[in-house]
Amino acid sequence: MRIIRLEGKSVVTVVDQADPVPAPGEVVVETAVSALCGSELHTYRGDGLEQGNIGHEAVGTVVAIGEGVSDLKIGQRVGASAIAGCGDCFYCARRQYTWCPEHAFYGSMHAERFLAAAAACYPLPDDISWAAGVLITGDGLGVPYHTSTKIASPDIRTVAVFGVGPIGLGNVLMQAHLGRRVIAVDIVSERLVAAEALGASDVVNARECDPVERVRMLSGGAGVDVCIEAAGRSETALACFEAVRTAGTVVFNGEQGALPISPSDQFIRRDITAVGAWYYHFSEVDQMLELYRNGLPVTNLISHRYPFEEAGIAYEKFSSGQSAKVLLDYQMGAPNQADASDSL
Ligand SMILES: [Zn+2]
Ligand SMILES: [Zn+2]
Repeated sequence: MRIIRLEGKSVVTVVDQADPVPAPGEVVVETAVSALCGSELHTYRGDGLEQGNIGHEAVGTVVAIGEGVSDLKIGQRVGASAIAGCGDCFYCARRQYTWCPEHAFYGSMHAERFLAAAAACYPLPDDISWAAGVLITGDGLGVPYHTSTKIASPDIRTVAVFGVGPIGLGNVLMQAHLGRRVIAVDIVSERLVAAEALGASDVVNARECDPVERVRMLSGGAGVDVCIEAAGRSETALACFEAVRTAGTVVFNGEQGALPISPSDQFIRRDITAVGAWYYHFSEVDQMLELYRNGLPVTNLISHRYPFEEAGIAYEKFSSGQSAKVLLDYQMGAPNQADASDSL
Protein backbone atom coordinates (compact mmCIF):
# COMPACT_ATOMS: atom_id res chain seq x y z
CA MET A 1 0.00 0.00 0.00
CA ARG A 2 0.96 3.64 -0.28
CA ILE A 3 1.40 6.00 2.67
CA ILE A 4 2.27 9.67 2.98
CA ARG A 5 5.59 10.64 4.44
CA LEU A 6 6.29 14.14 5.70
CA GLU A 7 9.97 14.62 4.92
CA GLY A 8 10.22 18.00 6.67
CA LYS A 9 10.86 21.40 5.10
CA SER A 10 7.41 21.22 3.46
CA VAL A 11 8.26 18.14 1.38
CA VAL A 12 5.60 15.43 1.12
CA THR A 13 6.18 12.08 -0.56
CA VAL A 14 3.96 9.08 -1.20
CA VAL A 15 5.87 5.87 -0.52
CA ASP A 16 5.19 2.12 -0.61
CA GLN A 17 4.97 0.23 2.63
CA ALA A 18 3.77 -3.23 3.69
CA ASP A 19 0.09 -3.48 4.63
CA PRO A 20 -0.55 -3.22 8.38
CA VAL A 21 -1.43 -6.42 10.25
CA PRO A 22 -4.04 -6.19 13.01
CA ALA A 23 -3.04 -7.23 16.53
CA PRO A 24 -5.72 -8.60 18.88
CA GLY A 25 -8.44 -5.99 19.31
CA GLU A 26 -7.41 -4.11 16.18
CA VAL A 27 -8.74 -3.81 12.64
CA VAL A 28 -7.30 -2.64 9.34
CA VAL A 29 -9.33 0.00 7.54
CA GLU A 30 -9.10 0.75 3.81
CA THR A 31 -9.14 4.52 3.71
CA ALA A 32 -11.85 6.39 1.84
CA VAL A 33 -11.10 9.91 3.08
CA SER A 34 -8.64 11.37 5.58
CA ALA A 35 -8.49 14.93 6.88
CA LEU A 36 -5.47 17.14 7.46
CA CYS A 37 -5.10 18.55 10.97
CA GLY A 38 -3.23 21.63 12.18
CA SER A 39 -1.28 19.42 14.57
CA GLU A 40 0.53 17.90 11.56
CA LEU A 41 1.94 21.20 10.36
CA HIS A 42 4.77 21.19 12.88
CA THR A 43 6.08 17.98 11.31
CA TYR A 44 5.35 19.21 7.78
CA ARG A 45 7.33 22.41 8.26
CA GLY A 46 9.98 20.87 10.54
CA ASP A 47 13.41 19.56 9.74
CA GLY A 48 12.21 16.07 8.92
CA LEU A 49 13.79 14.30 11.86
CA GLU A 50 10.56 13.41 13.59
CA GLN A 51 7.67 11.75 11.84
CA GLY A 52 4.95 12.84 14.24
CA ASN A 53 1.30 11.98 13.82
CA ILE A 54 0.77 11.74 10.09
CA GLY A 55 -2.97 11.53 9.86
CA HIS A 56 -5.36 10.80 12.70
CA GLU A 57 -8.73 11.65 11.17
CA ALA A 58 -9.95 9.04 8.70
CA VAL A 59 -12.89 6.95 7.55
CA GLY A 60 -13.05 3.82 5.43
CA THR A 61 -14.00 0.18 5.19
CA VAL A 62 -12.84 -2.62 7.48
CA VAL A 63 -10.72 -5.06 5.45
CA ALA A 64 -8.99 -7.15 8.15
CA ILE A 65 -9.91 -8.08 11.69
CA GLY A 66 -7.64 -9.02 14.59
CA GLU A 67 -8.23 -11.68 17.19
CA GLY A 68 -11.05 -11.09 19.64
CA VAL A 69 -12.91 -8.51 17.55
CA SER A 70 -16.54 -9.53 17.41
CA ASP A 71 -18.54 -6.37 16.81
CA LEU A 72 -17.01 -5.30 13.49
CA LYS A 73 -17.25 -7.17 10.20
CA ILE A 74 -15.26 -7.04 6.97
CA GLY A 75 -16.90 -4.47 4.72
CA GLN A 76 -18.24 -2.32 7.58
CA ARG A 77 -17.89 1.43 6.96
CA VAL A 78 -16.30 3.05 10.00
CA GLY A 79 -14.91 6.32 11.31
CA ALA A 80 -11.85 5.82 13.48
CA SER A 81 -10.99 7.73 16.62
CA ALA A 82 -7.23 8.10 16.95
CA ILE A 83 -7.41 7.78 20.74
CA ALA A 84 -8.18 4.35 22.11
CA GLY A 85 -8.47 3.33 25.75
CA CYS A 86 -7.27 0.32 27.72
CA GLY A 87 -10.83 -1.02 27.59
CA ASP A 88 -10.82 -1.86 31.24
CA CYS A 89 -11.03 1.26 33.41
CA PHE A 90 -13.62 3.64 34.83
CA TYR A 91 -13.30 6.02 31.85
CA CYS A 92 -13.23 3.33 29.16
CA ALA A 93 -16.51 1.95 30.49
CA ARG A 94 -17.93 5.39 29.64
CA ARG A 95 -16.15 5.51 26.26
CA GLN A 96 -14.15 8.53 27.47
CA TYR A 97 -10.92 7.22 25.99
CA THR A 98 -8.99 10.50 26.25
CA TRP A 99 -9.32 10.30 30.03
CA CYS A 100 -8.09 6.70 30.21
CA PRO A 101 -4.69 6.82 31.96
CA GLU A 102 -3.38 4.28 29.46
CA HIS A 103 -4.87 5.65 26.29
CA ALA A 104 -3.04 4.84 23.09
CA PHE A 105 -2.68 6.96 19.98
CA TYR A 106 -3.26 5.61 16.47
CA GLY A 107 -1.79 7.66 13.64
CA SER A 108 -0.48 6.95 10.13
CA MET A 109 -3.95 7.36 8.67
CA HIS A 110 -2.88 9.31 5.57
CA ALA A 111 -2.39 5.92 3.94
CA GLU A 112 -4.34 3.55 1.76
CA ARG A 113 -4.81 1.30 4.78
CA PHE A 114 -4.44 2.01 8.47
CA LEU A 115 -4.64 0.27 11.83
CA ALA A 116 -7.30 1.22 14.35
CA ALA A 117 -8.52 -0.09 17.67
CA ALA A 118 -11.80 -1.90 17.06
CA ALA A 119 -13.34 -0.31 20.17
CA ALA A 120 -12.52 3.14 18.74
CA CYS A 121 -14.14 2.50 15.34
CA TYR A 122 -17.59 3.99 14.96
CA PRO A 123 -19.84 2.13 12.48
CA LEU A 124 -21.03 4.76 10.00
CA PRO A 125 -24.72 4.64 9.10
CA ASP A 126 -25.44 4.43 5.36
CA ASP A 127 -26.78 7.98 5.16
CA ILE A 128 -23.52 9.49 6.45
CA SER A 129 -21.15 10.36 3.61
CA TRP A 130 -17.43 9.86 3.95
CA ALA A 131 -16.93 13.64 4.11
CA ALA A 132 -19.44 14.12 6.91
CA GLY A 133 -18.16 10.99 8.63
CA VAL A 134 -14.54 12.10 8.76
CA LEU A 135 -15.56 15.33 10.49
CA ILE A 136 -18.04 13.72 12.88
CA THR A 137 -15.76 10.89 14.00
CA GLY A 138 -12.56 12.95 13.83
CA ASP A 139 -11.53 15.97 15.80
CA GLY A 140 -12.69 18.42 13.08
CA LEU A 141 -16.08 18.56 14.75
CA GLY A 142 -15.00 16.55 17.79
CA VAL A 143 -13.01 19.33 19.45
CA PRO A 144 -15.66 22.02 18.83
CA TYR A 145 -18.36 19.65 20.08
CA HIS A 146 -16.42 18.64 23.19
CA THR A 147 -15.73 22.34 23.80
CA SER A 148 -19.45 23.08 23.59
CA THR A 149 -20.12 20.67 26.45
CA LYS A 150 -17.92 22.81 28.70
CA ILE A 151 -19.93 25.96 28.00
CA ALA A 152 -23.44 24.55 27.97
CA SER A 153 -25.15 27.18 30.14
CA PRO A 154 -28.16 28.71 28.38
CA ASP A 155 -27.09 32.06 29.85
CA ILE A 156 -24.18 32.17 27.41
CA ARG A 157 -25.15 34.49 24.56
CA THR A 158 -21.87 35.83 23.17
CA VAL A 159 -18.77 33.85 22.28
CA ALA A 160 -15.52 35.19 20.85
CA VAL A 161 -13.30 32.68 19.05
CA PHE A 162 -9.65 33.76 19.00
CA GLY A 163 -7.93 32.06 16.07
CA VAL A 164 -10.10 30.68 13.28
CA GLY A 165 -8.01 27.93 11.77
CA PRO A 166 -9.89 24.65 11.27
CA ILE A 167 -10.60 24.16 14.99
CA GLY A 168 -11.60 27.78 15.49
CA LEU A 169 -13.88 27.61 12.44
CA GLY A 170 -15.44 24.46 13.89
CA ASN A 171 -16.16 26.41 17.07
CA VAL A 172 -17.72 29.20 15.04
CA LEU A 173 -19.98 26.71 13.25
CA MET A 174 -20.91 24.90 16.47
CA GLN A 175 -21.55 27.99 18.59
CA ALA A 176 -23.53 29.76 15.85
CA HIS A 177 -25.61 26.61 15.43
CA LEU A 178 -26.40 26.79 19.16
CA GLY A 179 -27.83 30.25 18.55
CA ARG A 180 -25.05 32.26 20.12
CA ARG A 181 -23.64 35.45 18.74
CA VAL A 182 -20.13 34.63 17.58
CA ILE A 183 -17.25 37.05 17.12
CA ALA A 184 -14.29 35.62 15.18
CA VAL A 185 -10.78 37.01 15.68
CA ASP A 186 -7.82 36.24 13.42
CA ILE A 187 -5.07 37.91 11.40
CA VAL A 188 -5.82 36.14 8.09
CA SER A 189 -8.64 37.81 6.18
CA GLU A 190 -9.52 34.63 4.21
CA ARG A 191 -10.20 32.85 7.47
CA LEU A 192 -12.40 35.68 8.69
CA VAL A 193 -14.41 35.46 5.46
CA ALA A 194 -14.80 31.71 6.09
CA ALA A 195 -15.86 32.41 9.70
CA GLU A 196 -18.58 34.75 8.47
CA ALA A 197 -19.83 32.10 6.04
CA LEU A 198 -20.00 29.61 8.94
CA GLY A 199 -22.11 31.89 11.09
CA ALA A 200 -19.90 34.50 12.79
CA SER A 201 -21.90 37.71 13.15
CA ASP A 202 -18.80 39.86 13.56
CA VAL A 203 -15.20 39.42 12.53
CA VAL A 204 -12.15 41.18 13.93
CA ASN A 205 -8.85 41.39 12.09
CA ALA A 206 -6.26 41.65 14.86
CA ARG A 207 -3.78 43.08 12.35
CA GLU A 208 -5.98 46.11 11.87
CA CYS A 209 -7.10 46.93 15.40
CA ASP A 210 -6.72 46.08 19.07
CA PRO A 211 -8.75 42.86 19.21
CA VAL A 212 -9.53 43.14 22.95
CA GLU A 213 -10.85 46.67 22.59
CA ARG A 214 -12.86 45.69 19.52
CA VAL A 215 -14.40 42.55 21.08
CA ARG A 216 -15.35 44.51 24.20
CA MET A 217 -16.87 47.24 22.08
CA LEU A 218 -18.88 44.70 20.07
CA SER A 219 -20.25 43.29 23.32
CA GLY A 220 -21.39 46.62 24.69
CA GLY A 221 -18.22 47.30 26.66
CA ALA A 222 -18.57 44.55 29.27
CA GLY A 223 -16.84 41.80 27.33
CA VAL A 224 -18.17 38.51 25.96
CA ASP A 225 -19.59 35.63 28.01
CA VAL A 226 -17.02 33.17 26.66
CA CYS A 227 -13.67 33.44 24.89
CA ILE A 228 -12.32 30.34 23.14
CA GLU A 229 -8.56 30.30 22.62
CA ALA A 230 -7.97 28.33 19.42
CA ALA A 231 -4.75 29.90 18.17
CA GLY A 232 -2.35 28.30 20.66
CA ARG A 233 -0.50 31.55 21.27
CA SER A 234 0.30 33.22 24.59
CA GLU A 235 -0.77 36.70 23.44
CA THR A 236 -4.12 35.32 22.29
CA ALA A 237 -4.61 33.49 25.58
CA LEU A 238 -3.95 36.67 27.55
CA ALA A 239 -6.25 38.60 25.22
CA CYS A 240 -9.02 36.07 26.00
CA PHE A 241 -8.78 36.93 29.72
CA GLU A 242 -9.09 40.61 28.88
CA ALA A 243 -11.93 40.29 26.38
CA VAL A 244 -14.11 38.02 28.53
CA ARG A 245 -16.65 39.68 30.81
CA THR A 246 -16.44 39.49 34.59
CA ALA A 247 -17.69 36.04 35.69
CA GLY A 248 -17.19 34.76 32.14
CA THR A 249 -15.37 31.67 30.90
CA VAL A 250 -12.14 31.18 28.94
CA VAL A 251 -11.78 27.86 27.11
CA PHE A 252 -8.40 26.58 25.99
CA ASN A 253 -8.28 24.58 22.74
CA GLY A 254 -4.86 25.61 21.42
CA GLU A 255 -1.90 23.74 22.88
CA GLN A 256 0.73 25.99 24.44
CA GLY A 257 3.32 26.33 27.17
CA ALA A 258 3.52 28.50 30.29
CA LEU A 259 1.63 31.78 30.61
CA PRO A 260 2.25 34.73 32.95
CA ILE A 261 -1.04 34.50 34.86
CA SER A 262 -1.92 36.24 38.11
CA PRO A 263 -4.60 34.29 40.00
CA SER A 264 -5.73 37.52 41.67
CA ASP A 265 -6.01 39.59 38.51
CA GLN A 266 -7.12 36.96 36.02
CA PHE A 267 -9.35 34.75 38.14
CA ILE A 268 -10.23 35.76 41.70
CA ARG A 269 -11.25 39.38 41.45
CA ARG A 270 -13.22 38.89 38.27
CA ASP A 271 -14.70 35.46 39.05
CA ILE A 272 -13.32 34.05 35.81
CA THR A 273 -13.57 30.35 35.00
CA ALA A 274 -10.88 28.84 32.78
CA VAL A 275 -11.39 25.36 31.31
CA GLY A 276 -9.49 23.09 29.00
CA ALA A 277 -11.01 20.92 26.29
CA TRP A 278 -8.90 18.27 24.61
CA TYR A 279 -10.03 16.17 21.65
CA TYR A 280 -13.44 14.53 22.23
CA HIS A 281 -14.99 11.48 23.83
CA PHE A 282 -15.80 8.51 21.64
CA SER A 283 -19.16 8.50 23.44
CA GLU A 284 -19.86 11.97 22.00
CA VAL A 285 -20.00 10.74 18.40
CA ASP A 286 -23.63 9.72 18.98
CA GLN A 287 -24.54 13.30 19.87
CA MET A 288 -22.55 14.76 16.97
CA LEU A 289 -24.35 12.48 14.57
CA GLU A 290 -27.67 13.62 15.97
CA LEU A 291 -26.68 17.28 15.61
CA TYR A 292 -25.70 16.63 11.99
CA ARG A 293 -28.98 14.95 11.25
CA ASN A 294 -30.76 17.89 12.85
CA GLY A 295 -29.12 20.35 10.49
CA LEU A 296 -25.60 21.16 11.71
CA PRO A 297 -23.95 21.77 8.30
CA VAL A 298 -20.70 20.09 9.23
CA THR A 299 -19.42 19.63 5.65
CA ASN A 300 -19.35 23.42 5.28
CA LEU A 301 -16.09 23.17 7.20
CA ILE A 302 -14.45 21.56 4.18
CA SER A 303 -12.78 24.03 1.85
CA HIS A 304 -10.60 21.74 -0.28
CA ARG A 305 -10.48 18.13 -1.34
CA TYR A 306 -7.57 16.52 -3.20
CA PRO A 307 -6.83 13.04 -4.50
CA PHE A 308 -4.47 11.18 -2.16
CA GLU A 309 -1.72 11.40 -4.80
CA GLU A 310 -1.81 15.21 -4.54
CA ALA A 311 -1.08 15.29 -0.81
CA GLY A 312 1.81 17.69 -1.39
CA ILE A 313 -0.51 20.28 -2.91
CA ALA A 314 -3.02 19.66 -0.13
CA TYR A 315 -0.45 20.34 2.59
CA GLU A 316 0.82 23.42 0.78
CA LYS A 317 -2.70 24.86 0.67
CA PHE A 318 -3.38 23.90 4.29
CA SER A 319 -0.09 25.36 5.48
CA SER A 320 -0.80 28.67 3.72
CA GLY A 321 -3.61 29.33 6.23
CA GLN A 322 -6.01 29.98 3.35
CA SER A 323 -8.17 26.96 3.92
CA ALA A 324 -10.59 25.44 6.36
CA LYS A 325 -10.65 21.64 6.54
CA VAL A 326 -8.67 19.93 3.75
CA LEU A 327 -9.50 16.33 2.80
CA LEU A 328 -7.51 13.66 1.00
CA ASP A 329 -9.69 11.39 -1.10
CA TYR A 330 -8.48 7.85 -1.82
CA GLN A 331 -11.19 7.11 -4.37
CA MET A 332 -11.09 10.20 -6.54
CA GLY A 333 -8.96 8.49 -9.14
CA ALA A 334 -11.39 5.57 -9.35
CA PRO A 335 -14.85 6.98 -10.16
CA ASN A 336 -16.49 3.54 -10.13
CA GLN A 337 -15.83 3.24 -6.43
CA ALA A 338 -16.79 6.79 -5.54
CA ASP A 339 -19.30 7.29 -2.78
CA ALA A 340 -22.48 8.28 -4.62
CA SER A 341 -23.95 9.89 -1.51
CA ASP A 342 -21.07 12.33 -1.30
CA SER A 343 -22.02 15.68 -2.69
CA LEU A 344 -18.61 17.27 -2.38
ZN1 LIG B 1 -6.74 16.52 14.56
ZN1 LIG C 1 -9.03 2.71 30.11
